[in-house]
Amino acid sequence: MAGETATFVVNRNINFTNVCVVGCAFCGFGQGKRSPDAYLVAEDDFAARVRREAGALPAAQVERVYRIALGRRPSAGEIELGTEALERFAAAWARSGVARGAPAGGDAEARALASYCHTIMNSAEFLYLD
Ligand code: SF4
Repeated sequence: MAGETATFVVNRNINFTNVCVVGCAFCGFGQGKRSPDAYLVAEDDFAARVRREAGALPAAQVERVYRIALGRRPSAGEIELGTEALERFAAAWARSGVARGAPAGGDAEARALASYCHTIMNSAEFLYLD
């Protein structure tokens, strides 16, 4: 705190897995991949949670993805971009024919949401602090 101004840093650590491949034994966090406490959160898991909590409405899904991944509400423009991305991903997955039998549920919309979750997890918001 300097004078009347308080500042803070938002620090996000999204641990998508606790499986350690190095094994330096420095910490108690890393687990062997066969450990009963090992976990791996994939984009399909993230998308399944979003579908469960937000339903099928694309704008609600975009809002939920932002809340979970970035800890904030999306702007109106981000909702518009997000819903457009979901439409485009779904169309691409439908064209590819790969959606059938995929782990996220098999339909193009489910694959699109998983792709969108993957995109947000790789967004620049994780690289740069405001
Ligand atoms: S600090 Fe923990 S997670 Fe990292 S390499 Fe060492 S044991 Fe593995």
